[in-house]
Amino acid sequence: MNQGILEKLEGIVGANQTFTDARVLETFSKDQYAFSPVLLEMLRDKRAEVMVAPDSSEQLQKIISLAALENIPLTVRGAGSGNYGQAVPLHGGILVSLHRFNSILEIDVTTQTARVQAGARLGNLEREARKHGLELRFYPSTWATATVGGFVGGGFGGVGSIQYGTLWDNLIVETQVLPMSENPQLELLTGSDIFAVIHAYGTTAIMTELTIRLAPATNWEECVFSFPNLGNAIAFAQEIAENTSLKKREVGIFEAPMPNYFKPLEAAGGVKDGRTAVILELEENASHDLQTRAHELAGTLDYFNPHATYHHSSFALSDFTWNHTTLWAMKADQTWTYTQARFEVEKMLEQVHAIKEKFGDEVLMHLEFIRERLSDGGVLIAASLPLIRFSTKERLFEIQAFFEAIGVQVADPHTFYLDEDSRWSGEAVLNGVAQFNPKGLLNPGKLKVLHTGEHAVLANSWFGKTKTD
Ligand SMILES: Cc1cc2nc3c(=O)[nH]c(=O)nc-3n(C[C@H](O)[C@H](O)[C@H](O)COP(=O)(O)OP(=O)(O)OC[C@H]3O[C@@H](n4cnc5c(N)ncnc54)[C@H](O)[C@@H]3O)c2cc1C
Repeated sequence: MNQGILEKLEGIVGANQTFTDARVLETFSKDQYAFSPVLLEMLRDKRAEVMVAPDSSEQLQKIISLAALENIPLTVRGAGSGNYGQAVPLHGGILVSLHRFNSILEIDVTTQTARVQAGARLGNLEREARKHGLELRFYPSTWATATVGGFVGGGFGGVGSIQYGTLWDNLIVETQVLPMSENPQLELLTGSDIFAVIHAYGTTAIMTELTIRLAPATNWEECVFSFPNLGNAIAFAQEIAENTSLKKREVGIFEAPMPNYFKPLEAAGGVKDGRTAVILELEENASHDLQTRAHELAGTLDYFNPHATYHHSSFALSDFTWNHTTLWAMKADQTWTYTQARFEVEKMLEQVHAIKEKFGDEVLMHLEFIRERLSDGGVLIAASLPLIRFSTKERLFEIQAFFEAIGVQVADPHTFYLDEDSRWSGEAVLNGVAQFNPKGLLNPGKLKVLHTGEHAVLANSWFGKTKTD
């Protein structure tokens, strides 16, 4: 990057928000891709040439204009908590960190929405919304640090998805975006046009502000039940997931010995050796009524956190769910990695049995019940982040191929290509790139189709149909 460009960037955001120090660039050019031993090898050397931290859309406009004029790659970054290299700049250039572009602009109690700058943290938004009797519909287990723009640009769903679906389920009312052009003007995306930026890894346009739907706040309580085997745990959790009159935010299953990796929970006496755990977030007073059914399945209530201390304890149970499960497992034993899968509930028991029979403890089951496709009436599925004992890349892919062969869809977390993720929005993203990023300068290298001319996987095959259908 030549000195003239660096000086122009300093002129836009200030010298103290323009970073060329090698250590800073190394830190901020990474995200959490080390979850994948495959990506670790491929991405460890990738670096931006400069990082800037704007605090206004005017500054963003000027940075984009400069990059477009000079044909410099530009990658935008929220908190960098994506776990397949979504925010890693593959071709150097400018990294734009939105950590200073983080205001919560408005919480509207009447429409139950929040308007935020893209770098606003989900944790701050949840706390602020609660002051107004509202809460996030759903959030990733990284909610404390993850940004709204980063979640929409690189995430999927999480705690609350059992009630409110995934990012494709009408969470976003509208978003302002900036295109990659020499004279970028703010544009407003609404309705299905928003699919262009959902889980698009910032390859189409840069979101500046978003208006997202919130939910009325519920008094949640947290609990952990444990069972002597996976089958009983699944039976118990599935009944809760299917019970539409019971309000819930989290229904997850963690095969033994996974719960022993959750050290703070273990220290609090919430883990029983050798048992499979069901982690629940339920409306207040619901846990008590579940004990009879749990006893019938040889289950016990091992941990309970009442609403009074919900999100005010030393840990939240969501700290052990979704990909935090993988994180705790990898901390305890570095040979674990994972995959991402989708079980249709009707076939789940048979498929889980087939996987366990074939791979034994080489694969540990971790299931997260969610609802998806809410506009079509909603369907309950078990999203899954099974732990896989890593030996070789070939064996890892063999295990993923077995999942696919028995009808379990996989969203491969061992690739940085957006269009190898079966959840990508297909034509909506490609049209977005053509419209907003015609030179392909935004996060270049993440779309395989632009190199090979072929779609790597069918768009939205995860959801059983294409969103553009
Ligand atoms: C331990 C752990 C647990 C996780 N749990 C979950 C989970 O429960 N659910 C889930 O969905 N994900 C989960 N993730 C993945 C990730 O944390 C989330 O997707 C998170 O929301 C990403 O937010 P971020 O601010 O860190 O985004 P980043 O990682 O910084 O960015 C993600 C992508 O969005 C793009 N982007 C960022 N800001 C913008 C913008 N303003 N405009 C356009 N594009 C933008 C980036 O270029 C990048 O491609 C987990 C990851 C880890 C490491």
